[in-house]
Amino acid sequence: STLLTDDVAVVTGGASGNGRAIARRFASEGADIVIADIQASPREGGEPTHELIEAETQSKATFVECDVTNADDLEAAIEAAEEFGGVTVMVNNAGIFHGEDFLEVDEDEFDRMMDINVKGVYFGAQAAAKRMIEADGGRIINLSSVAGLEGSGEFITYCGTKGAVRLLTYAMAARLGPDGVRVNAIHPGLIETTMTTDDYPIMGTDAEEDFLQAIPSRRAGQPEDVADAALYLASDLSDYVNGESLVVDGGMTNT
Ligand code: NAD
Repeated sequence: STLLTDDVAVVTGGASGNGRAIARRFASEGADIVIADIQASPREGGEPTHELIEAETQSKATFVECDVTNADDLEAAIEAAEEFGGVTVMVNNAGIFHGEDFLEVDEDEFDRMMDINVKGVYFGAQAAAKRMIEADGGRIINLSSVAGLEGSGEFITYCGTKGAVRLLTYAMAARLGPDGVRVNAIHPGLIETTMTTDDYPIMGTDAEEDFLQAIPSRRAGQPEDVADAALYLASDLSDYVNGESLVVDGGMTNT
């Protein structure tokens, strides 16, 4: 439990779901944590992630109200990490999903999804990179999706945003590698969070069985599965892994 003892992680969207699991996992390995989210409490219910971390680990944790569509908010989240010694790991996790048909999506919905899923990743990475370059290194982890690897006719806008995250990750890795900053993406498949139980209900519906048939591991992923992948990319275990896409989908994509 000492993989991240010298680390300070900023996790956007860290109040809920995947971000919450990532923050808790990092804290269990010794990292101090800044939760940067529009809300402190998890969407799925429960106590605020930063409070839970302080109760269950030796790590320090704080919450910063941060809307990732606002670059100033992202700068403030990075600034908040100075209290713990400065950000060394940035997790651009905040994201939204929708199931509107291509023919129904209007400009406002398109812009909102691009702002959160793409612009948020871009300026989150930029704010972190400035600080990491000063400190001679760091790691940036961006949450894409299997929807950033393959097109789906059911959620076209989301695919577009997650494909953009994938290429931003590769391009940022090229730019920042010489400065000692590694940039990698995680591509989760079907993960049981409020996104897949409420926003776009798959879990607990007829669609769940179809998904499970397409997943060789025959189960939905849990946020902890994503968190373990993030831990690998955040730690020195992945020291020579840069500009990579780590798919965490129980085998769904390649089979
Ligand atoms: P979630 O809805 O459970 O959590 C998302 C978190 O982001 C929430 O805490 C929410 O408050 C926060 N958030 C939303 N808008 C924000 C904003 N503008 N600024 C700051 N924070 C904001 O979702 P999740 O399933 O945990 O998703 C996390 C990431 O994982 C997303 O990028 C998502 O696209 C990706 N992902 C999820 C799945 C899945 O099956 N759940 C699959 C692939 C990828």
